[in-house]
Amino acid sequence: MNGSRFRLRFWGVRGSYPTVAADTLGVGGNTSCVEVEVDGRRLIFDAGTGIIPLGKQLCNGASSPPAVYVFLSHTHIDHVLGLCFFEPLLTAAGRTFIMGPGATHGALTRSLRHLTHSHLFPVSLDELKGKKEIFSLSGSETIRFGTPGHRPKIEGPGASDAIEGGELTVRTCKSSAHPLNGVMLYRVHYRGKSFVYATDIEEQAGGYPEIIEFSRGADLLIHDAQYLQDEYDSRVKPRTGWGHSTVDLAVEVAQKAGVKRLALFHHEPTHDDKTMKKIGNHAKRLFRSTVVAHEGMQIDLL
Ligand SMILES: [Zn+2]
Ligand SMILES: [Zn+2]
Repeated sequence: MNGSRFRLRFWGVRGSYPTVAADTLGVGGNTSCVEVEVDGRRLIFDAGTGIIPLGKQLCNGASSPPAVYVFLSHTHIDHVLGLCFFEPLLTAAGRTFIMGPGATHGALTRSLRHLTHSHLFPVSLDELKGKKEIFSLSGSETIRFGTPGHRPKIEGPGASDAIEGGELTVRTCKSSAHPLNGVMLYRVHYRGKSFVYATDIEEQAGGYPEIIEFSRGADLLIHDAQYLQDEYDSRVKPRTGWGHSTVDLAVEVAQKAGVKRLALFHHEPTHDDKTMKKIGNHAKRLFRSTVVAHEGMQIDLL
């Protein structure tokens, strides 16, 4: 792995549920998963179905797959659906660190155990062969990384949040703007570059000040943009309170935060490729540096 790289790759960009409809596959049908190759490490944001092909690639021909750091935005099913099929968790030589929101120590482990309840899955989380360590986060943490493959150092809100010498650092921000238990946002810094992962957020009109502040000046903002304005405002089926933003709100937050680039993410599964193209054109008219995230898309920040 190239240590000077800071590269993102989208493996799943859909919200809510995966889609296999032929007219959606240009953008891609897998649910949330973004791989980040940075500082000789592999970080993964969310374990939607996109993590399944990623895991296969990591283990392909490798006698021991690389250690991976998985950051969960929350544990709604579309964000963890791929976890039990993630090859490093099924391989004895695999080593996976999983971090995500949990109010108390052990809370995230308890949430994830629901996934492998005996009525839902034949093997329990604890029986999966790969080594794993699970850490609950409450927000406002600073996460640093020592030797590759070792446990990350998670510092609570009271600790210094200084970023020293461009070292790889992940910061967390807990938002309540998603039903019922909120969602974790992440900002990854490395050598003066940074991106924000902000999915499953229903922005308020004008955007939430704390999210705008958390995203301030980032090189890239990956933001929930599930709905069109007329869907959100629909009288027959209003999407208010469902926990997702409109394309226009994602753009507004990007502009107010002064980010360099915006990637629209967590696409509505019923939006076909033609609709996604229209959405991209509409968003670009409002904010030129917008891209519609699609499966296989790669963005280099360094
Ligand atoms: Zn979701
Ligand atoms: Zn959700």
